[in-house]
Amino acid sequence: MQKRRDETLEENRVHDVVIVGSGPAGYTAAIYTARAGLNPVVLAGAMAAGGALMNTTEVENFPGFAQGIMGPDLMDNMREQAERFGAEIIFEDATQLDLEGPVKTIHTDGAVYQAKTVILATGSEHRKIGLPEEPSYSGKGVSYCATCDGFFFKDRPIIVVGGGDSALQEAIFLSRFGSSVTVVHRRDELRASKVMQDRAFANENIRFEWNSKVTAINGESQVESVTLTDTQTGDTREVPASGVFVAIGHLPRTEILGGQLDLDENGYILVDQPGTKTSMPGVFASGDVVDHVYRQAITAAASGCRAALDVEAYLLENMS
Ligand code: NAP
Repeated sequence: MQKRRDETLEENRVHDVVIVGSGPAGYTAAIYTARAGLNPVVLAGAMAAGGALMNTTEVENFPGFAQGIMGPDLMDNMREQAERFGAEIIFEDATQLDLEGPVKTIHTDGAVYQAKTVILATGSEHRKIGLPEEPSYSGKGVSYCATCDGFFFKDRPIIVVGGGDSALQEAIFLSRFGSSVTVVHRRDELRASKVMQDRAFANENIRFEWNSKVTAINGESQVESVTLTDTQTGDTREVPASGVFVAIGHLPRTEILGGQLDLDENGYILVDQPGTKTSMPGVFASGDVVDHVYRQAITAAASGCRAALDVEAYLLENMS
């Protein structure tokens, strides 16, 4: 059930820790800080609680699930586990953070929270192709989530953009629905892992357009085709498509920080590796908003654990 806070309840209350984000990093940090008796508040998000795994099908590589587990089930389990130890999950977005000083302030639409420490686990968002017409076709053929939208393209031609594990995972899933699935990749070699490549190459409904970029999306009210440009020759061609699934990586979600923390050149939060301290005392960061290399559910969970332990150590050092 969705829960909102009465702003007045929060007056003069200073929490030990507020966790912003509810993917594997946020929920793992919540489990650990809750078990440590720190009564964490998790701002889980108004619309997208559970993070990216809520839009995933089967997760086969999270240790402990020998037969795999559906992404949303894994996240529900993590949330329940955190709640079991007393974590308070609030389904609101953090809209503004004031991170300086010994007491941090975190605003949502419904409340203002104060905390001695903050764990940022805001994850990342889908990278867009960047075409001017892309936003206007979103929901009219352009999608960033095959499990959410694949069904709408039953027996229609589908394009998947990208060459990593995400693109092939989307393509394999979509091959059940589409009349054809064409993976458009800007090089002639995939970035995806071998196991995913083997599965995609063995799938008769998946074909590849190598050395190609989508340079236009066409159609009256819905997507009807895409224009592909050859990255070697510059030649263009039009390919019929009802669905265009974009799976070209992610961008860290740091917009609410408003420049308060040091970021790397790609916009990821800089932390004191292998720890999770950011450039601001009492503020810790974990998961995909920090990590642009590994980006797995298990590595995000592990860094959420490290953030929780770092918070415990910080509170012991600074507040006793
Ligand atoms: P990724 O590995 O960064 O791959 C992004 C792909 O998009 C690359 O092939 C890249 O091309 C292409 N690309 C990037 N920008 C582009 C642009 N502007 N136009 C066209 N193409 C562009 O991202 P990911 O596939 O989302 O995977 C992220 C992480 O999650 C990886 O560690 C991956 O292993 C993991 N993951 C694992 C699974 C699994 O089943 N185990 C499933 C999904 C994701 P280049 O190759 O030319 O750079």
